[in-house]
Amino acid sequence: MKIGIPAETRPGETRVAATPETIKKLAAAHQVVVQSGAGMAASIDDAAFVQAGAVIGSAADALGADIVLKVRAPDAAERALMKRDAVLIGMLDPFDGANVAAMADVGLWAFALEAVPRITRAQSMDVLSSQANIAGYKAVVMAANVYGRFMPMLMTAAGTVKAARVLIMGVGVAGLQAIATAKRLGAVIEASDVRPPVKEQVESLGAKFIDVPFLTDEEREIAKGVGGYARPMPADWMRRQAELVHERAKLADIVITTALIPGRRAPVLIGEDTVKAMKPGSVIVDLAVAQGGNCPLSEIGKTVVRHGVHIIGQPDLATLVAADASALYARNVLDFLKLIVAKDGSLAIDREDEIIRATLVCAGAEVLRKSA
Ligand code: NAD
Repeated sequence: MKIGIPAETRPGETRVAATPETIKKLAAAHQVVVQSGAGMAASIDDAAFVQAGAVIGSAADALGADIVLKVRAPDAAERALMKRDAVLIGMLDPFDGANVAAMADVGLWAFALEAVPRITRAQSMDVLSSQANIAGYKAVVMAANVYGRFMPMLMTAAGTVKAARVLIMGVGVAGLQAIATAKRLGAVIEASDVRPPVKEQVESLGAKFIDVPFLTDEEREIAKGVGGYARPMPADWMRRQAELVHERAKLADIVITTALIPGRRAPVLIGEDTVKAMKPGSVIVDLAVAQGGNCPLSEIGKTVVRHGVHIIGQPDLATLVAADASALYARNVLDFLKLIVAKDGSLAIDREDEIIRATLVCAGAEVLRKSA
């Protein structure tokens, strides 16, 4: 089987879907073609891919393979270079119906890794987790860079400097890593989430949980989420959360928001009134900016200053840690491949398998999932 790794073409995308480490394993059973320069933005040169067993080729060589490994969904020019019935694996925007239809038009067997179910067997293929972990880390590092004060408490001959106060909104994979990173830098941390089990995780990392009590059974039920993901909370709970968060944000120096609801617009957690009440020079990093933002003042791809507060709206923070983001992503892809390639190297797609069913968005011309 020929496996192709094209260079990513989406603006700002720095990652690559395979690394020398994963290619070494693939090349034992397959012919692997990497597009020249595909790894450059992730600090991997062509020579390293060749040493691992790949052949270097053009975009047409890589995209024309039987199995194409990508980070992002192909655009029209890339799709035009792909073969009918080729297998495509990547973060393929499964909720974007037009994009799925376009892949079906080409006749691709497309697997969207964002849709990997949250079951133990699929953990090693979970690209949302591997990339969110990196984003949580980078969010704190970026905030620390923009913040005009120290993060840790310092006692110096010239007097004492207070530790920064960090507020984390949404404590999934990114939020937990943000807490851990801010803790290493010496900050004092508070965090909020809708899912009750998060409280214990927050406290185990040495942060304080902001408890928004549940007043009805309906609120308690919705807060459990589904499949490890949050669901939109009732308006009354959101209002009580906003009141509490408003008070905590007034004291915070850095706010990192990560709250997402799969397939929907991100919930607004830091409204303009709260931004106005924050201290001058404080920093907000809105990790949900690409899904509409947890703060209505954040702007995608920009750092803006509003009411004296720096608001960082950089999407896809994992692209800023391209080498490690690619290393983890490539391992996720390799583990997924093991699911659809038999020991003899041939394709074996079991459409009854739970992971296959969740991720397969089109099977040839057949569209299997259109929207959230
Ligand atoms: P996510 O990126 O979808 O959302 C980030 C966080 O925002 C979540 O914790 C969510 O509860 C929270 N959120 C949503 N609405 C909110 C609101 N109004 N206010 C405050 N917070 C809000 O989530 P994620 O990081 O992908 O992970 C969700 C959970 O799934 C985590 O507990 C994670 O550990 C778990 N997980 C399990 C597996 C597995 O079992 N295989 C794999 C990956 C993740």
